Amino acid sequence: MPSIEKMICITCPVGCTLEVTHEDQTLLKVEGQICPRGEKYVQEELTDPRRMVATTARVKGGLHPLVPVYTAAPIPKPRIFELLAAIREIEIPAPVTMNQVVLENALGEGIDVIASRDLPVA
Ligand code: SF4
Repeated sequence: MPSIEKMICITCPVGCTLEVTHEDQTLLKVEGQICPRGEKYVQEELTDPRRMVATTARVKGGLHPLVPVYTAAPIPKPRIFELLAAIREIEIPAPVTMNQVVLENALGEGIDVIASRDLPVA
């Protein structure tokens, strides 16, 4: 039996409100998008929802104790808390350079976690 639900497209800052008709993972109809990316977003939300993750990781011997990090690509949404736990386990030796891979192939998903700034030695 088809379900109708509202979704907010988060692909761009416009944030279109979409009315989505689907049956389980099968998209039947989407309305409210003002560009084709809205339908692509809904399709992915139904079948393989993913998010970019930005957080901080510990640094040993750095000017600051933490460095901001982010995923190089969106990670499956159900694994976000597992990823955050894995990042909490690491301690990166200073210095850290911007774009340095701090966690390679995170959770075996083929996605690296990357430092978003330089962090020199204390
Ligand atoms: S449907 Fe298009 S315009 Fe609307 S939020 Fe998504 S990407 Fe942006």
